[in-house]
Amino acid sequence: MRATLERQRAACMAELPVSAAIRKDRLRRSLNLVLENEDRLVEALSEDYGHRSPIQSQLADIMGTVKPLRQALTEVERWMKPERRKVDLPLWLLGARARVEYQPKGVVGVISPWNFPVFLTFGPLAEIFAAGNRAMVKPSEHTPATAALMRELAEAAFDEDELAVFTGGVEVGKAFSQLPFDHLIFTGSTALGREIQRAAASNLVPTTLELGGKSPAIIGSSANLQRTCDRLVAGKLLNAGQVCLAPDYLLVPAAHERAIIEGLQAAAAAMYPSIHDNPDFCSLINARHRERLRGLVDDARDKGAELTVVNPGGETLDQPGSNKMALHLLREVTSDMRVMQEEIFGPVLPVITYERIDEAIAYINARPRPLGLYYFGEDQAEQTKLLERTIAGGVTINDVIYHGVTNDLPFGGVGESGMGAYHGFDGFRTFSHAKGIYTQPRVDLAKLAGLVPPYGDKSRKSLEMQIGKPER
Ligand code: NAD
Repeated sequence: MRATLERQRAACMAELPVSAAIRKDRLRRSLNLVLENEDRLVEALSEDYGHRSPIQSQLADIMGTVKPLRQALTEVERWMKPERRKVDLPLWLLGARARVEYQPKGVVGVISPWNFPVFLTFGPLAEIFAAGNRAMVKPSEHTPATAALMRELAEAAFDEDELAVFTGGVEVGKAFSQLPFDHLIFTGSTALGREIQRAAASNLVPTTLELGGKSPAIIGSSANLQRTCDRLVAGKLLNAGQVCLAPDYLLVPAAHERAIIEGLQAAAAAMYPSIHDNPDFCSLINARHRERLRGLVDDARDKGAELTVVNPGGETLDQPGSNKMALHLLREVTSDMRVMQEEIFGPVLPVITYERIDEAIAYINARPRPLGLYYFGEDQAEQTKLLERTIAGGVTINDVIYHGVTNDLPFGGVGESGMGAYHGFDGFRTFSHAKGIYTQPRVDLAKLAGLVPPYGDKSRKSLEMQIGKPER
C-alpha cells in the first residue's frame, strides 16, 4: 500500500497542473464503471446482505453514486476557476492583486463502511477526481463480494496509480489508516473515527470523518400525521434502518403519541405487507448485527419499555440463515436503556414524548450532536426555534435523509457525528488545497508609507491611520 501511495503521489506531481480534461476523463470512467456494471453491483450487494432490495440498491448505491459523478462532470470547470479576493484599497489602486487557486491535494485515502458500499466508496471519487487527486480506497470486509467486484472494476478501468482498491479486514484497515495520505476520508462509526483520527494525526493527515450517532426526528403538533408517519417509515426501513441518517428516535407531543404509533404501524404494513419473502425488505447485514439489535430491544423491555412489533403477516422471522427483522417500536423508553445510548442502525424506533417543544430541544442538547435532525410540522416559529437552538450536522424538514442526498449541500457531521464535509463544491474544496496567492505591484508602498526602517514620524502616522480608532 505504501509503494502504491508513493507511485500515486509521484504520478500526481508529474501531472501538475491537472487539466479539466484529465479530471473529466477520470470522472467519466468512474461513471461508466458503475453504469456498465449496474446489475453485477446490485447482485453483489444482495449476496453480501443475504437479501437486499434491488430497487433500494439502485436508489442508494447506483443513483447515489452516479448523480455526484455527473454533477462533478458538469461543474468541474467552474469549480476549478481561481477566485479573486480583496486587498486593502491603497494596495489595490496601486495594482496589488490577491487570488485563490485550487490545487489537488495529491493522494486521497477513502475508508468506507458496509451499509452503502458503492455509494460511500465510489461516490467520494466525484469530488476527489474533480479536485485533480489520485485515490486509494479500502471498502468494508463485511461486504466482501461488493468489495471484490469494486476492486476488479477499478483495476479494469484505471491504472493503479490513479485509483487503487485494497480489500481486507481490520488489519488492512489499520495499516491503511496509518499511511501518510494527503487527505483521508473515513465513513464509519464514531468509535472507529477516534482511532482513525489518532492514526492520521501521527502523519498530520487532514481528515474528513463521516460518522454516525443518534439522529432525532421531532414531530410538531402542527404536523400532518399520516404524511409524517409515511415518510418516517420509508426512511427508517430503507436498507432495514442501516443508514447513518436514519431517524434514530422520535420526539412526539404526548397528546399525539397513540396516533403516531398507529400511523407508523399502518404505514409499515402498507409498504411491507410481508417481510420474510418480500423482495422489497432488506436483510440485516449479518447474524451478529441482528443479535446486537435484539439485545437492544431485550434490554429496553427488561427495563420497562413497551414493545410493538410490526409484523402484519404474523410471520416467524427467526428462520435459520435469515437476518430479516421487522420494525420494532418502543414506548416508555428511558435514558438508562442501551437503545437510548447507542446508535441503533436497524429497524428499531424508540418513541419519546414531550409536552413543550423546549423539552424536546433540551433532550437533544443534553446528548452528543447528531448527524441529522428532522422536524415535521407547519409551525414556522417552532421550526425556527428548533433549528436555531440545536446543533446538528444537517437538517431535513418534513422528511428524513434528503439533505444528505442533495448534492449541492455540504454533507457532514459535527462533534461526535463527524468533522468536515463533502458533496458538490464543498467536496471539491475539501479535497483541494486552497492556495492564496498575492502579487505585489511595482510601487514599493511599504517604503512610501514609512513601514521599512529607519522608522520615524511617517511610520507612526501611517500606522495610526491604518490601525484606526475604536468603533462606537
Ligand atoms: P465498518 O465496520 O464497515 O467499518 C468501516 C471501515 O473501517 C471498514 O472498511 C473497516 O474495515 C475499517 N476498519 C475497521 N477497523 C479499523 C481500524 N481499527 N482502523 C482502520 N480501519 C478500520 O463500518 P461501521 O463502522 O460498522 O459502519 C457503520 C457506521 O458507519 C455507523 O455508525 C454509521 O452511522 C456510520 N456511517 C456514517 C455515514 C456518514 O456518511 N456519516 C455513512 C454510512 C455509515
